[in-house]
Amino acid sequence: MSKVLFDKETGPREVFCGLTSIVWLHRRMPDAFFLVVGSRTCAHLIQSAAGVMIFAEPRFGTAILEEKDLAGLADAHEELDRVVNDLIARRPEIKTLFLVGSCPSEVIKLDLATVAEKLNKKFLGQVQFLNYSGSGIETTFTQGEDGALKALLPLMEYTDEKKLLVVGTIANTVEDRLKKIFKNIGINNVESFPPRQSIELPKIGKNTKVLLTQPYLSDTVRDLKHRGCEVIHAPFPLGVEGSTKWILAAAEAFEIPPLKVHEVITPLVSRARQALEAHKDILRGKKLFLLPESQLEISLARFLHNECEMNLVEVGTPYLNKELMEEELNLLPENTKIVEGQHVEKQLDRVRESQPDLVVCGMGLANPLEAEGIHTKWSIEMVFSPIHGIDQAADLAALFSRPLKRNQILTTKTLATFK
Ligand code: SF4
Repeated sequence: MSKVLFDKETGPREVFCGLTSIVWLHRRMPDAFFLVVGSRTCAHLIQSAAGVMIFAEPRFGTAILEEKDLAGLADAHEELDRVVNDLIARRPEIKTLFLVGSCPSEVIKLDLATVAEKLNKKFLGQVQFLNYSGSGIETTFTQGEDGALKALLPLMEYTDEKKLLVVGTIANTVEDRLKKIFKNIGINNVESFPPRQSIELPKIGKNTKVLLTQPYLSDTVRDLKHRGCEVIHAPFPLGVEGSTKWILAAAEAFEIPPLKVHEVITPLVSRARQALEAHKDILRGKKLFLLPESQLEISLARFLHNECEMNLVEVGTPYLNKELMEEELNLLPENTKIVEGQHVEKQLDRVRESQPDLVVCGMGLANPLEAEGIHTKWSIEMVFSPIHGIDQAADLAALFSRPLKRNQILTTKTLATFK
């Protein structure tokens, strides 16, 4: 392992909660509905994170726990039953209904697993009910996806068929491109988890080889291993380097020679490297500080240093699974400072002291930092944007070069105005 410097920090945190993941999960599985069991705050969060859907019926909602529920003066189950019955009657297209726990439902110890079990009996053959927690008591917002996938796993049947299972939500267009690459190198049996329809779950077993697209799925990986699947260790498919190594690792697991992989991907690699040049001109030598939020920070740091020549000041991560991240950590430059966990005030002090050119952080910290003249990039954008794969390397770099370029233009214009 390259000699990176590890540190751990605890204290006040400033991250989104797991409910946020509903925004990309409901797009991925249009036959599923996500019912948050929470307060008005939870409803506001999910509505503002997802934007207003004017033309489509939303596939998420909130069963609101009122103050009397929270005080134990009313039976929250009654409200939940009413909302679920109404939903199923109005929306026959719903095939899977996720009951998503929140801080309030956890505080009053609402047992959503038992509620889901009862509803499964009542609506047998019509809708399947699952539950997971999206509460802010978890480490960070991407854990919402980990919880949802873990909840789906027991429904996946057994097979001993040899297959590649690509795990973690990615954009459908990116998925199509990656599957085409796998087909061209000779891996034909490729499935994705989560699938595009919640009821079309892939079968898994001892000949399933799991390739992760996202680094924040520790619980899902643990359960996949318990089901006999083999996890392929690789860096994550961000940038040319990460994506190439990711595809090579899959090829090795299927005994396909590296030469075959290079034959297929070389034109993509040359195109992507060329497209990266313009962004590199802006990013080269700039100081980058990543605050912990999405768990994508280590892969992003690797890409932005190795392929865009940025200098890493500090790489924060809300949680570090050293086993899943080993290949990534090996690719980081010596002495990279990795800080697991968060004490937001101490971290902000270090940001101010180091005066980075760009800070990757949560939305809650971005505005105050911008007000102090420190440029920021919202980490949540990385999970909403199609950034995976060789083809997307330049688009990923653009997410970071754009704010710096915009600030350069604004500074030039301001100086010109004062001349
Ligand atoms: S789950 Fe908790 S952190 Fe998330 S919106 Fe609801 S109350 Fe806030």
